[in-house]
Amino acid sequence: MINVTQTFLPPIAEYVKQIQRAWDNQWLTNRGELVLELEEKLKKYLDIPNIIITNNGTVPLQIALKLLGGQGEIITTPFSYVATTASIVWENCIPVFVDIHPEYLTIDETKIEAAITSKTTAILATHVFGNPCHIEAIAAIAKKHSLKVIYDAAHAFGVKYKSQSLFTAGDVSTCSFHATKLFHTGEGGAMFTNDIKLHDQLFYSHNFGHNGPLDFHGLGINGKISELQGAMGLAVFEHLETIMEVRKAAVDFYDRELDFSRLDKMKIREHTTWNYSYYPVVFESEAVLLQAQKALNDDHIFPRRYFYPSLNRIPYAKGTAMPISESIASRILCLPLSASITETDLRRITTVLNANI
Ligand SMILES: *Cc1c(COP(=O)(O)O)cnc(C)c1O
Repeated sequence: MINVTQTFLPPIAEYVKQIQRAWDNQWLTNRGELVLELEEKLKKYLDIPNIIITNNGTVPLQIALKLLGGQGEIITTPFSYVATTASIVWENCIPVFVDIHPEYLTIDETKIEAAITSKTTAILATHVFGNPCHIEAIAAIAKKHSLKVIYDAAHAFGVKYKSQSLFTAGDVSTCSFHATKLFHTGEGGAMFTNDIKLHDQLFYSHNFGHNGPLDFHGLGINGKISELQGAMGLAVFEHLETIMEVRKAAVDFYDRELDFSRLDKMKIREHTTWNYSYYPVVFESEAVLLQAQKALNDDHIFPRRYFYPSLNRIPYAKGTAMPISESIASRILCLPLSASITETDLRRITTVLNANI
């Protein structure tokens, strides 16, 4: 069976070596040695000024919205994972959808201003499949209308835009280290900001608001990650180069072998160093997608309809029609891509796919 993704598991001896340290320290959570070491390693690897590692990639979205959303209207993309929209509603804010660009698949920055009202407080956009939003245009709009910018950068691990980590964009960026993501800690995530004051607020918000054991800065939640997950992160970290190499080779194979006379692919934004995180293909119609999916499934190959559905269609989001996002969501399939995919797998996938489109 070939699945859409395969969690990267480091050799178990390497994991045991890391986790032994938690036993030696008799310390399992509350930002122990392993998590602190992982933060330092990630800061260097990603070339970013600071990072707060969290228990997943959704809580940092909620924390950012709690601090910056003010229960107002949040301009957001309908083409993302459900966590993006759900966090907005969960934080008592109102999602206001803006349709996406048909090729970049990120929020269409030219349509943002028309959606701004006196209740708008922030923009929450997703770097879809690691493809950057138009961060300069969005920054200019935010400045003009005094809005905050939050990026769901769950897919953007290692992506650089104009030679800078994409995590440095916006007021806050968040990432996910879920087992299905490029870099993972089993469950985990992170948040980033360049603003030192905001960094402090994010930090205490993810630790119950604590200011020392007896005092509190303000409201907080538990967004901490454990040493057990830190151990996984440290073990996976050592393999990042290989993970990227295998993924790049797989992406190159798809690029070479797939029949693009009958398929579209995402256009990567100019000046981007991409991370090979996903391989989405867009079919001519949903009917062709379903036919191709069936043929692949019959051969025990399981791509994923991702993202589906378009989030404006989720009842609690109360969205209006988003023609481009809905059209793309009905026609897009993410092909298998992982650090363990082989050339034989890739040959099988491209052969079956090309014969069924
Ligand atoms: C994975 C993902 C999340 C949620 O991350 P978790 O770590 O699973 O909570 C949020 N947004 C996007 C775009 C994602 O892909």
